[in-house]
Amino acid sequence: MITAMAVFFAIRGCQAPLITDSPPVKVYRSKTQQIEQLSLEQYVLGTVAAEMPASFELEALKAQAVCARTYALRKLVDGKNYPRGAELSDDITTCQAFVNAEEFAELHPQHNEQLWDKIQQAVDETRGEVILYENQLIDALYHSTCGGQTASALEAYGRDVAYLQSVECGYCQQSRRYRTEQYFTWQQVADLAGEGKSIQVLAAAPSGRIQKIKVNHKVMSGSEFRRIFDLPSTWCTISSDREGINITSRGYGHGMGLCQYGAQGMALQGKNYRQILSHYYQDTQLYKLPY
Ligand SMILES: [Zn+2]
Repeated sequence: MITAMAVFFAIRGCQAPLITDSPPVKVYRSKTQQIEQLSLEQYVLGTVAAEMPASFELEALKAQAVCARTYALRKLVDGKNYPRGAELSDDITTCQAFVNAEEFAELHPQHNEQLWDKIQQAVDETRGEVILYENQLIDALYHSTCGGQTASALEAYGRDVAYLQSVECGYCQQSRRYRTEQYFTWQQVADLAGEGKSIQVLAAAPSGRIQKIKVNHKVMSGSEFRRIFDLPSTWCTISSDREGINITSRGYGHGMGLCQYGAQGMALQGKNYRQILSHYYQDTQLYKLPY
């Protein structure tokens, strides 16, 4: 039995093999500031519905379901605390997005039942499946669009994680965020980063993502630069002229782990969810929880 799993079942006072339904979870809902009590599989359903376009291919949705389940279970095993004693939250800055069936129907006035059924199918067909690396739950990070090459944990966090390496992704070109152009006048740059008319990348990761940049007199990290200029990612090329700067960004999100539009691209090419997951999380295995 996997240690993390044993801990997880033990804190719920039950033996894994006796479980027939998926474990209960308490999810904090930020809008109502209330707890929603769900089974883990119901939570995964609402997370896939919130985190990936329901129009995506079934195999992409299945890959997302396994990521969402793994991500959630790792939070549960780590014993994260959210408001009101919740174990999970719908706050995307600290956990994963979540919608229930009613919220999903409001967001998708057309075909919502068909789309919900399709997501349900993706969750059912991967029921209990999680991703492990060396018998431990992985930190199943994912993002919208990598832009052609994912980011390693080493370049993003400065911490090497065996299964979060930078991999080529030739599958996400259909994302409208694959490439984004933004123009800032020097006045706009000054408003955001202080007076001056200079910009210089000081350090970039092998994948091309900016790690350190000097804008006028201000030196900042790539993520700070992304936040201040409201860029889709830290993977940018910058050109400047007398009037201002042009920033061409690649992808959308932190770039680590599964690329969601890449998963869709792989699914469209006939790859299944197992192939998708092993592409983005190298050297990992799937494990099916016994419930
Ligand atoms: Zn990609």
